[in-house]
Order: sequence, then C-alpha cells, then structure tokens
Amino acid sequence: MFPDFRMRLKLDKKTGKVMYGADIQSVFDICWYTFSRMVADVAPPVDEDLNYFESQGSILSCLACGKYFVRHSSRQLYCNNWDCQAERNRRNRRASYARKKAKEVENKE
Ligand SMILES: [Zn+2]
Repeated sequence: MFPDFRMRLKLDKKTGKVMYGADIQSVFDICWYTFSRMVADVAPPVDEDLNYFESQGSILSCLACGKYFVRHSSRQLYCNNWDCQAERNRRNRRASYARKKAKEVENKE
C-alpha cells in the first residue's frame, strides 16, 4: 500500500547533529511519508480517544486548509503553507480587535 522510502542519515552542519530522515524527492513523497509516519507512530489505541491526536503533539490537521502537518511546537495550529500563515495572522488580528472592542464596551459600563 505504501511506496518504499529510502531512509538515510544526514549530518546537519549547523548543529553538528546527525539527522535520520526519509529521502524525499517530491511533494507526494512528503504526503506519503507524513501519512505513513502517522499510521506507524500515531496509530490510535483500540478505544478511540478523540484527544489522542491532540495529546501526541506531533501531527495535526491545519485549521485553515485541513491538511496534516508535523508541528514544531504544541501551540502551532496551522501548517507552514504561506496562505495558512496569512490566514492565521488575519484571524489573530480579528481576535485581538474583538478583544479590544470588548474591553472598550466593558470600560463604558
Ligand atoms: Zn494549512
């Protein structure tokens, strides 16, 4: 079902650390790799727990485009796609504007 991946060790010159990763040639490989990692690493337990994926903190469905991505921090909710980052900024701006407005109303009362 899954295509074969060539895994290889890469030396990160910046950190001097040896990284272990798949040899990725195309966007499709990345999708397959992400999906196969999801199946392999984040295989859901027998009792399906809706918070399971959330608790793993590694793979999340992007709030803007819905694609699965590997997140770099537990607070990351959007993938690295430029459009999604722009969407995140738009939503953040809107949310802070709404907070500001709410505060103004509060202060008047
Ligand atoms: Zn996205």
